[in-house]
Amino acid sequence: MPWIDKDRCTGCQTCVDECPVDAIYMSDGTAIIDMTNCIRCGICHEVCPEDAVRHDSEKTTDRIEENIEETKRFMADCEQLLGNEKEGQKCLNRMIKHFENERIIAERTLEQLRILNSDLEGK
Ligand code: SF4
Ligand code: SF4
Repeated sequence: MPWIDKDRCTGCQTCVDECPVDAIYMSDGTAIIDMTNCIRCGICHEVCPEDAVRHDSEKTTDRIEENIEETKRFMADCEQLLGNEKEGQKCLNRMIKHFENERIIAERTLEQLRILNSDLEGK
């Protein structure tokens, strides 16, 4: 999924003009993508003269760190609000189950998408 590197964006608005579904808007001189409307066509990435539209894969490390920090915050809140250390550990186990479930969803989605891709290549 695309995202815009604010440090590279010069606010030229080329991506805003070219997006086929008007999913990009300007805020404080920088382009912002509204991901609820984005259809992942990649045009903004192709037209940006500054290479400011970046790929998801560049945020993998940051997202892992965010997940870990978020889990630690939940654990601390559970401990504090529910009164003991065991509640923090229970919270941690729920987060582990949550991410295991996310992994299963991602793996099964990938399986189906690869089948779809093979079907298209066979046509
Ligand atoms: S085309 Fe690139 S530099 Fe221009 S507004 Fe969009 S992201 Fe920013
Ligand atoms: S990927 Fe396509 S739909 Fe999404 S913001 Fe870029 S140009 Fe618009």
